[in-house]
Amino acid sequence: MTIERILVIGAGTMGRQIAMSCALSGYQTILQDISADALSAARKELESWADSRVSKGKLEQADAQAALERLSESTDLVHSAGTADLVIEAAVERLDIKEQIFATLGEHTPAHAILATNSSTLPSSRVAQASGRPAQVCNMHFFNPALVMKCVEVVRNEQTSDETVSAVTDVATRLGKQPVLVNKEIPGFIANRMMGAINAEALNLAQQGIASIEDIDTTAKTALGHPMGPFELMDMVGLDVIDVIAQATYAETGEDADKPHPLITEKVQAGLLGRKSGEGFYPYS
Ligand code: NAD
Repeated sequence: MTIERILVIGAGTMGRQIAMSCALSGYQTILQDISADALSAARKELESWADSRVSKGKLEQADAQAALERLSESTDLVHSAGTADLVIEAAVERLDIKEQIFATLGEHTPAHAILATNSSTLPSSRVAQASGRPAQVCNMHFFNPALVMKCVEVVRNEQTSDETVSAVTDVATRLGKQPVLVNKEIPGFIANRMMGAINAEALNLAQQGIASIEDIDTTAKTALGHPMGPFELMDMVGLDVIDVIAQATYAETGEDADKPHPLITEKVQAGLLGRKSGEGFYPYS
């Protein structure tokens, strides 16, 4: 099947960059959000991102302009859904809201349309029934920042068809990403499970006073070749985001190893969320 028109739902951190990535790769793209303010903030941020890429010589002016022209914004989900070949849902992480969105999509997108969710913690099987077309539903999990990070986890649920997997994989490839296939739904998929294991060990080492956070980060970078240390990375992702992911994983698995770590919970309760709040494990000016 040919995918030409993509609808991205949610103009927050993820949705706006996923939408720009689609527009840059030649797809007619609609970015939809219930908040007009979120849409205008997204357009402003993407225009300034494009300007900065052009001035650094990393993007041709004509390509930037063409992408921004291929991208349009809307607050009207029903209308935006009508022409979509592929929907990438990146709205707020709430099951009730996502179910409602998938029910609307099932009713108003063309019958061939594929419906993907970018959710990090809600596997697509949780919203597939609401859409009425579970074979055409999967997770398409991008990483933050979506304009930069190459990996896209394509996660199939038990009913996802091979055609859906193949179409979504092709789109991810055309976006210049590296799709990886997750054959079975599992909390955290691949990357967040591996990151969770590294973070848990780093947090335990720090909590037991075995090493400072600086030295743990230095070891990750200079011995393991990681581009960032685990504490630097957690500060970048946001400690509240890490906490929510851990809570959701623990709710799903009930395993002690998945419980939110007390060092993270302490920071979140103190409002120290990482870079975005000016302080997390490290201070930021
Ligand atoms: P965000 O809070 O930055 O943005 C969410 C947006 O959804 C907001 O602009 C909000 O107005 C909009 N929204 C709320 N209800 C809506 C509705 N009914 N219809 C349309 N839009 C609606 O969130 P985010 O960090 O961009 O996360 C979005 C999704 O991406 C989540 O499912 C999350 O699990 C997933 N995700 C996040 C990250 C990350 O690092 N932030 C990484 C990978 C995946």
